[in-house]
Amino acid sequence: KYREEDENYAVIGLGRFGGSICETLIDLGKEVLAIDINEERVNVYANIATHAVIGNSMDENVLNNLGIRNFDHVVVAIGEDVEASILITLLLKEMGVKHVTVKAQNESHGKVLSKIGADRIVFPERDMGRRIAHYIASRNVIDY
Ligand code: ATP
Repeated sequence: KYREEDENYAVIGLGRFGGSICETLIDLGKEVLAIDINEERVNVYANIATHAVIGNSMDENVLNNLGIRNFDHVVVAIGEDVEASILITLLLKEMGVKHVTVKAQNESHGKVLSKIGADRIVFPERDMGRRIAHYIASRNVIDY
C-alpha cells in the first residue's frame, strides 16, 4: 500500500510559489529536495529544505545525478521561463516520475503541460482568486 510517510518531494524553482511549497512541505514533516539555478535562492533554502542544490534542471545529467527518478513528487515552480518549465516537465515524465505538479503561467502554457503529461497543473493567481471568492461569498452567507 502507498504509505504517505514514505513520500519524498523535490521542488524545482524557489520563487515565491516554489519557496512556499517547499516550506509548507517541510512543516508537514516531509523530505524536500530544493533545486534552483540561482545560488542566492538556494542559500535561502539551505537551512529550510532537507537538501538544497544549485543546478540547471534543464540539463538531463543534473536531474540524473540528483536521482530525480526516485522522487515520488516533483513540483516544477518556474513561471517566467516557459521553455524551461516545459522541457523540465517533459524530462521528468520521460524519467518516470509519478507525480509531477507544474505551475502554469497562462492558458497556453497549461495546454502544453497537459499534453506532455503533467499530472497536476496549477494557476496560482487564478486558483487563489477562486478560493478567495468562494470564501468571501460563503462568509457573506454566514454574516447576513
Ligand atoms: P513567483 O513564484 O515568485 O511568482 P515565478 O514563478 O515567476 O515567481 P520565476 O522568477 O520564473 O518564478 O522563477 C522561479 C525560480 O526558478 C527562480 O528562482 C529561478 O532561478 C528558477 N529557475 C529558472 N530556471 C531554472 C532552471 N532551468 N533550473 C532550476 N531553476 C530554475
